Amino acid sequence: MNVGIVGGGQLGRMLALAGYPLGACFRILDPMADACAGQVAPLIHGNYNDAIQLEWLANWAEVVTFDFENVPAAAAQAFAGRVAFHPPSEALAIAQDRLSEKTLFWELGIPTPNFATVDSLEELQRAVERMDLPAVLKTRRLGYDGKGQKILRTHEDIEPAWKAFDGVPLILEGFVRFEREVSVLAVRCLGGETTFYPLVENHHRDGILRLSRAPCLMPDLEQEGWDYARRLLDRLNYVGLLAIEFFVKDDRLIANEMAPRVHNSGHWTIEGAETSQFENHLRAILGLPLGSTAAIGHSVMLNCIGDLPGQPSVLAVPNTHYHVYGKVPRPGRKVGHITLRSDDPDVVRDGLKQLLPLVGFSPSEFG
Ligand code: AMP
Repeated sequence: MNVGIVGGGQLGRMLALAGYPLGACFRILDPMADACAGQVAPLIHGNYNDAIQLEWLANWAEVVTFDFENVPAAAAQAFAGRVAFHPPSEALAIAQDRLSEKTLFWELGIPTPNFATVDSLEELQRAVERMDLPAVLKTRRLGYDGKGQKILRTHEDIEPAWKAFDGVPLILEGFVRFEREVSVLAVRCLGGETTFYPLVENHHRDGILRLSRAPCLMPDLEQEGWDYARRLLDRLNYVGLLAIEFFVKDDRLIANEMAPRVHNSGHWTIEGAETSQFENHLRAILGLPLGSTAAIGHSVMLNCIGDLPGQPSVLAVPNTHYHVYGKVPRPGRKVGHITLRSDDPDVVRDGLKQLLPLVGFSPSEFG
């Protein structure tokens, strides 16, 4: 089973690590010679629009997938009709544009924040009048981890924000005063069978995910999230793992965005679920039966951003599992994660208090 992965970051790396026990082989295309997935699988060093390397991958692989959603449409087209490509390129195209994404949510009856497309300063001013402040101005494309967005709090923020984005297509969203953030991870296989992971609760700082907790025991919200995920998966005739991030407000879900790939808020599944998101994504795209998504006890996942705490201090905390990505530490860069799993929620709570200072937070944060 030859699997090509477009993109060689930590998600590609963890996909390969999950795939070897299934007997899969990997080749990974990435423009960076030191892409961290290259430490665990052969790297094809080339740009995502490099016709020769795409051709090579299409000939070698039985299925091609990707580890980030900004795969250029040209790369997806290079595989079309030649080799299985999952998740579908339509999901990729929609997730690359916040406007198409929110429009699809809206068409499927999935609630979103108010939104308006913004292509000029006048349009932005009109949208602010309709929506009121605060509001969030985001680039339609290439935004991630809070990059490419600005909160408009007063009317004085409007013009500088418009200028800072330098004419790229934008979307204005109503600012949601949410009670919490959650995500739904769902996996759909070639035959259409679909399974869902338990609801995950997420905490961000500066737009970057810091902590995920699962299972988040809110059965009504979980059902609502699974229902929305099923609508998306069926509409897109999706194969593979899909993540959807939601705000929770007044005990209802409001969709923020979707990622047509394995997701940071699913890293806990490596130790905390019967079958990890990485293995289930591979099972789905390889036409294998899906594994159980049931949680094993309680898990909390902490991202290591910018630098890595020392292994001895992390591993001294009972029930922790440390995943180092092999990336050069840089401010704001995800370089590893730590999962703490136990059947006993008190063990998770106590361990979390010890781990939080190691990743730059006080023990009382994220209670
Ligand atoms: P995003 O890049 O869209 O995933 O946004 C990153 C984070 O910014 C989210 O997880 C939220 O914490 C925050 N955020 C994004 N959009 C909004 C919004 N419309 N209202 C309130 N907070 C938001």
